[in-house]
Amino acid sequence: MAVKEILTIGHPILAARADEVDVGTINSPEIQGEIQDMIDTMRDANGAGIAANQIGIPKRMFVIEVGNNPRYPYKPKVPLTIIINPSIKFLSDETFVSNEGCLSVPQMRANVDRHVEIQVDYLDQTGKAVQQTIRGYSACTWQHEYDHLDGLLFPNRVTDMSSFCSWKVFQEFKQKEFAEQVQALVDKWGA
Ligand code: ZN
Repeated sequence: MAVKEILTIGHPILAARADEVDVGTINSPEIQGEIQDMIDTMRDANGAGIAANQIGIPKRMFVIEVGNNPRYPYKPKVPLTIIINPSIKFLSDETFVSNEGCLSVPQMRANVDRHVEIQVDYLDQTGKAVQQTIRGYSACTWQHEYDHLDGLLFPNRVTDMSSFCSWKVFQEFKQKEFAEQVQALVDKWGA
């Protein structure tokens, strides 16, 4: 459909809780078009995921996809997944210090604690109920996108303020070590 403008941190739509999608409307041209706009915009920006409110649609939907992503060379691959009205349950107390960036937070990255074993209940793009268990590094991506639906961006979750850095500094000084930590998590959980 179309590549949309990505809203940036501080925009009121990004800071608000998004609304549940009416299940009966999921197969409508409106919702299907909005899903395609999310996919097109995510791919255009080389994102690993994007939430509807990042492109100005205040609805509880996000998409995730990780292929050979130049923005995230250390991320394990995730097939294109469309998530509507999700809920997340933590399956253990194990967490990982995830260094994150966001299409809505230009230039900046920082460390956020994420759970590594989660169960997500959601509706897919046809309205079918799906229950999925996600373990490993990919669980961080799901929690990042889910937070958007509650009006939270990664800076809201940062506890170590000294971990803020630019993408340029990350790539120069931190990416190698972080990629090793991600690889250890992937080796443990297979994802
Ligand atoms: Zn984000």
